[in-house]
Amino acid sequence: MSSAMHTEVLRSLGLDSHPRVVPGVGPSDGVIVSNNPATGQPIAGVRLDDASSYERTVAQSAEAFIRWRSVPAPARGQVVRAIGDEIRKHKDALGALVSLEVGKIRSEGLGEVQETIDIADFAVGLSRQLHGLTMPSERPQHRLMEQWLPLGPIGVITAFNFPNAVWGWNAMLAAVCGDTTVWKPSLLAPLTAIATNAIADHVAKSMGHPGVFTLVIGTDDVVGERMAADPRFPLISATGSCRMGRRVGQVVASRFGRCLLELGGNNALIVTPSADLDLAAKAVVFGAVGTAGQRCTTTRRLIIHRSIADRFTQTLINAYKTVRIGDPLAEGTLVGPLINARAVEQFERAIAQAKAQGGEVLVGGGRASVSGAPGGHYVQPTIIRAPDSGELPIAKEETFAPLLYVFAYDTLDHAIAMHNSVEQGLSSAIFTNDMRESGRFLNPDGSGSDCGIANVNAGTSGAEIGGAFGGEKATGGGRESGSDSWKAYMRRQTITVNFGSTFALAQGIRFE
Ligand code: NAD
Repeated sequence: MSSAMHTEVLRSLGLDSHPRVVPGVGPSDGVIVSNNPATGQPIAGVRLDDASSYERTVAQSAEAFIRWRSVPAPARGQVVRAIGDEIRKHKDALGALVSLEVGKIRSEGLGEVQETIDIADFAVGLSRQLHGLTMPSERPQHRLMEQWLPLGPIGVITAFNFPNAVWGWNAMLAAVCGDTTVWKPSLLAPLTAIATNAIADHVAKSMGHPGVFTLVIGTDDVVGERMAADPRFPLISATGSCRMGRRVGQVVASRFGRCLLELGGNNALIVTPSADLDLAAKAVVFGAVGTAGQRCTTTRRLIIHRSIADRFTQTLINAYKTVRIGDPLAEGTLVGPLINARAVEQFERAIAQAKAQGGEVLVGGGRASVSGAPGGHYVQPTIIRAPDSGELPIAKEETFAPLLYVFAYDTLDHAIAMHNSVEQGLSSAIFTNDMRESGRFLNPDGSGSDCGIANVNAGTSGAEIGGAFGGEKATGGGRESGSDSWKAYMRRQTITVNFGSTFALAQGIRFE
């Protein structure tokens, strides 16, 4: 992957002449460098916001909100439709930029941009369906109903690993709901954010709506913390680690703001003896190895019935040996690099701890070298078998790398208890052909999977936009994307209208 490729992708997205982008520089005051994790080479420098440019941007967003909320929702939907169309036109270049900046393989980079296009389509339909309920009133000649109102400028904080789609999930819904968006992307993927926001801003401006989509790029002490504490944001939607969510959640709560938290996962997949093992193996390999294990929904723990554990694990080991690691944009690559050198160190540290805790490395276990890319942050997808006791404390932590811990179980109750024994509660899966087992996993009394997402014969990774996405416990409780997630971006107003001439009180109270 050459620097000519960097130049070409930047040029095709207009980043070569963007005022925020400083091509080919090293780090300097007020500038950070976005590096290509596949080579360790710089792609471009990006100018950071300071306190005063932050202030200007938020003020601009707050002003734009006053105008934008008065645009009828279906007309707001037309703006979102045009943005979706424009992103379609730039899908290849944006997908390539995602690959260059965060190391996703080509089809996953493109898939991520497709997710933004899909949510834009969804939001267009939604713009005519932001409906409230009507309820029968207990008082004669009274009408009781609710309406949903725009909320205000929304602060959107995003993680490095979905540098385009997580903005799309938030910004496209927020826009049809009548809100403006101030996006604070990860400093590990600022170029994708600049390119994406520029497309949305350009379309909205050309349709007469400047300021609806804005961007602030800065360090957490200068920009992130300021945003969380800023009362102009009635909602902060924050995606990232549990550590970040704990901090942002507290700051926002202390000013009675709302938070939509999409935090870390530690997702498990249960394989029972009745399962289609071929199907299960494909789901495990994609879930554990895909995106180099850097998805919030990555499969980190595999819980297999003891009777099939050795056979199934051997199938996985064989598959792991065939997985091609390398340049994410090269044909046939399935595993790209980790995001940076720190992530590689965390991967190595987790393996050392697993070994010290009695875990056995079955395949992988170290760095991977890729020819022609000595500075790339590559590691080998790794499987670690937990000791018979099932005690492996490191498996309770989310290490953002292709690390899969394998546990054996004896009864399904035991498997579900193991499954639910971690702090996080994002995604979960069971592979079974026994309807009693799937019923137990999805038990409507809540005693099955404790996650926000629970799948049967489908892996933990790879959600569709139509459902609500998010998790419980330390994953933060937020829901984004489909279903009725739009409600987080609006405020509900309950309305009573008395169309009679009697002063009637609820609960039969008389006050005469
Ligand atoms: P991170 O927590 O390091 O950073 C995420 C974002 O939060 C960045 O924009 C960062 O600048 C910002 N941030 C950090 N501290 C802040 C503070 N004090 N105030 C305001 N902003 C602050 O996470 P990351 O390494 O970029 O991403 C990986 C993590 O994100 C993993 O834990 C992963 O599971 C999680 N994630 C969750 C979801 C989900 O939908 N649940 C999706 C993607 C990633």
